[in-house]
Amino acid sequence: MLPSALRSDVLLGFGAAAVIATIAWRTGALTRGGALTATVVGGVAMTAGRSWGLFLVLWFITASLASRLGKRTKERATADVVAKGGQRDAAQVLANGGVFAACALTSLLAAHAGDTAALMGAAALVAAGADTLATEIGTLWRGRPWSLRTLGPVPVGTSGAVSLAGSAGMVLGAWALATAAAGTGLIPSSTVLLVATAGIAGAVADTVVGAFWQVRRWCASCARETEQIVHRCGTPTQPWRGIPWLDNDRVNLLCTLAGALAALLLGR
Ligand SMILES: [Zn+2]
Repeated sequence: MLPSALRSDVLLGFGAAAVIATIAWRTGALTRGGALTATVVGGVAMTAGRSWGLFLVLWFITASLASRLGKRTKERATADVVAKGGQRDAAQVLANGGVFAACALTSLLAAHAGDTAALMGAAALVAAGADTLATEIGTLWRGRPWSLRTLGPVPVGTSGAVSLAGSAGMVLGAWALATAAAGTGLIPSSTVLLVATAGIAGAVADTVVGAFWQVRRWCASCARETEQIVHRCGTPTQPWRGIPWLDNDRVNLLCTLAGALAALLLGR
């Protein structure tokens, strides 16, 4: 039986998370499954403390706004390549918020590890956010991105692609989000640089893994590389290159894990 104070925290936390997730679902930022998963991730965060919950909400607003920024332009540019649109589903919510929720849970269960858990949790979300901002700003940019793997130009939206605008978005995004984490009181101001650096390390890991090992699929009808399981022409695609189970969501999960571990190492 939970102590009654914790019980009311849990109720309030999950209640608030459910309200925000429902709004996000109704406005098209999340799918229904995404909203259910976000209720669990958000509920755990809100129960862990106001700073955890507030930072998650700030992060989510930033990521959703970045996805909406120039939506039309981006959809036109990437409709052929990217696996999923701007609406986040359950796998994407877990990929972005799973490590953060695990850190929040750790701080709830093991109070003595609370400070370390907060650094790692903040860095996990900063990494996911920096990666998202890099992708969104890089995609919006008119310049042609190039592949880390072939060092040649690739279509906009390709995983592991690098551009100047995207890299600037990544660094600025990491700095802004780490500052926001300190603003909510989740991490001390003295660790903003550490958390931003860890976040950038996670986002860079995401780019490298995305370029070299993430699965690429092939549409035989269009003779075109894509990340869609069913190409937009309606043809089911085949794994073609990279590790078959390593899809974009799993690479994103890896990005947040790398961010959290980098914070742990840098914070020692
Ligand atoms: Zn096709």
